[in-house]
This record gives sequence, structure tokens and C-alpha cells, in this order.
Amino acid sequence: MKTPLPQVSVSRRRFIGQLSAAAAFLAAPRAGRALDTPPPSKKLGVALLGLGSYSTDELGPALRKTEHCQLTGVVTGSRDKGEKWAREYGFPAKNIFSYATIAQMAGNPDIDIIYVVSPNGVHAEHVIAAAKAGKHVITEKPMANTVADCDAMIAACRDAGVRLMVGYRLHYEPHTAELCRLAREKTFGPFMRMDGENGFTMDSEATADTMWRLNKKLAGGGPLMDMGVYVVQAVCMAKVEAAPVSVTAKFGPVTMPKVFTEVEQSIQWTMEFADGARAKCNATYAEQLSSFRADANGGWAEIEYPAFYYAEPILKTSRGKPHFPHVNHQVAQLDGMALELMSGRPSLAPGEMGRRDIAIVEAIYAAARSGQRVEVRA
Ligand code: NAD
Repeated sequence: MKTPLPQVSVSRRRFIGQLSAAAAFLAAPRAGRALDTPPPSKKLGVALLGLGSYSTDELGPALRKTEHCQLTGVVTGSRDKGEKWAREYGFPAKNIFSYATIAQMAGNPDIDIIYVVSPNGVHAEHVIAAAKAGKHVITEKPMANTVADCDAMIAACRDAGVRLMVGYRLHYEPHTAELCRLAREKTFGPFMRMDGENGFTMDSEATADTMWRLNKKLAGGGPLMDMGVYVVQAVCMAKVEAAPVSVTAKFGPVTMPKVFTEVEQSIQWTMEFADGARAKCNATYAEQLSSFRADANGGWAEIEYPAFYYAEPILKTSRGKPHFPHVNHQVAQLDGMALELMSGRPSLAPGEMGRRDIAIVEAIYAAARSGQRVEVRA
């Protein structure tokens, strides 16, 4: 049975970049049930689209543990794989769809949300198809290859009256949420200097033909798209969800020319904010890195390696080491988003936030290509 969801008017709720997600949440008009109404006992039905490693290793298992949503279907290019998932997760074979039959989900009451977990370059077509089927949509990060695609995704969801959210799991992770609180409440004053890096070592045998992350059309770019988006996110969190006014950037050296024929191997960039704050950032496929630090005049906050991975982040501040319960990131995100939908609350990670990040990414690439400072139009 499909749980009736409140109509969500995304169009009237344009994300306001200068507000924190939490402040936007408090300020935005509420749709549907009041916040203090207990969530219904019914779980929302989620269909995973794209049964690759993130779905198989993280999201599927997380959906066995979620309280407010459960796996009720899949979209896959392989009928055999779909049947295996149906057996393992206990949903009916009628809920196995192919990429060509997404439209047929429209009449399926078991599925409330389609979670797009395909390569970046096809997120837009999959999100638009999901919206046309009348389902709420979560799309994995990065939201899409271009701002133009993000705009088309947002428009399709608005026109269909469904929500669009981005799989930014860290917004639902308590240590990262504490960083957002320190920024929002200016506990140490505004963060003015930030350093962030994220990366992993790419398989030296991989090529643009064998690995979509190295393929420009499917990935949109290299480590900036894949790992750098987390750094962009962290910097914007530290700046209470403001977008930078300008960026500078340069590509790093290519030491594995057979691997990196289409996308960068590494990239370093700076983000400059209206209040004079500056962030120095790095994303790479040549090294295992993952950390973030933000400094204000009255103190600092740091998330140590592996800041952006699935483990419990180690948050340290100039006042000590705050500790929060460790959560499974995917469970926290999926339950958080299900509750946002059921209560009619705005999402902590709406499509507009994903679009902001792609606008920043486009400016970073333009700066790296030109060697010039580039204004960000987020
Ligand atoms: P993957 O290669 O393991 O899986 C991708 C799946 O998409 C495959 O099942 C593939 O068959 C399917 N697919 C659908 N249409 C396709 C097309 N046109 N071309 C190629 N494959 C197609 O990749 P993954 O690691 O699972 O990543 C999927 C998405 O999830 C990416 O956007 C990635 O950035 C994101 N991701 C997010 C996190 C996170 O922590 N939030 C972690 C890993 C991956």
C-alpha cells in the first residue's frame, strides 16, 4: 500500500543559498502534516535504480535496517539480477523494472521513491523518467554533469509535484551536523580559513573504456566530480550554506597517462567568499586523502581522516572532542529523507543544493582551464 504523501510544492521553496539547510528548514513554509505529528508507522517504498556497488554494498543493506522506508523494487538492465534482488529482499517480481519501463512504475502503489544510483552522466535522464512516473526522487552525488542538466531535473520534479533530493549522506551524520551547528551559531566566530581534501588511488589498470569514473561522458569529470564534491559541500557547510563568490584552480600533474586520458588525475582549487573567507581544496585519484579543517578567529573545528568516508568521523574542535553516537550513514540519510517526505518538511539536501554544487564545480573547471579567477553564479 502506498502511503499518501503531502503535495510538496518545490517551486515555492527555492533553496536560499545564504541560509543554512537547518535555517532554511525553519524558515520555509511547511506542507502537509505538522512537524510534531508522529511519523506514520507505514514505511515508504524505495526502488533502487542501478544495482552497482553502492546499491549492492551500502544502500540495499541499509534498507534492511531503516525504520521509515524499505526496499520494494528495483530498476535494472538485468532481469536475472532483479529476480535475485527480489528473492533476497522479499519484494514481488512485478516490482522489477528495466530502464525502458520506468514509466510503468506510475501505477505501482508499492513504490514512493526512486533512488537513482547510476553513473553521474545519466542521473538527469533517470531522474526525469522517475519524476514523470510520479515518484519522489533521490539522486546520488554529484547531482549531474552540468548545471543545465540540474535545471532540467529540478523542473521535471517541480512539474510532476514530486521532491528531488541528493544523496548527501553527511547532512544526516551527527558529527558533520555538529560542524554545521558550530558554523550556524558562530560558536568560534565565522569560519574564515578552510582546508579540505578527498581522494583515493585509482586502479592503475583502469581506463576510460573499462571504468565509468574515468569516462568524461559518464562521469562529467574526474576526482572533482566524485570526491571533490564532498569538499565543496564541507566548505559550504562551514559557511552556513553560502556559495563562494569566486574560485581559482589548477589541474595537478598526470603521472598515469594511460589511465587519465579523459578526466583530470587531480585538481587543487580555492573558494573565495563575500566576507573574505577562503578555502584551499584538493581532490585526487592518486592518493588516499579525506580531511577537513575550518578556522575562525575564536577557535577551530577539524574532521580528521577519513572525514568523508562511511566510518564515524573524528571531529575535534578547539574546545575538545565532541562525541555523538555512530550512525550508519546510509540508514540515517534514508530514514531522514523518508521522514522529511512524510512530514512535508524541506529536505536538508534538496536538488537546489546539488545544483549549487555543480555551479561551483563548473566554475572550478573553468578556472583550471583558463588559469583565471572565475566568478561563481550559483
Ligand atoms: P557502479 O558502476 O558500481 O554502478 C553503477 C550502476 O549503474 C551499474 O549497475 C550499471 O549497470 C548502472 N547503469 C545504469 N545506466 C547506466 C549507463 N548508461 N551506463 C553505465 N552504467 C549504467 O557505480 P557506483 O559506485 O555504484 O556509483 C553509482 C552512483 O553512486 C554514482 O553517481 C556515484 O558517484 C554514487 N556513489 C555515491 C556514494 C556515496 O557515498 N554517496 C558512494 C559510491 C557511489
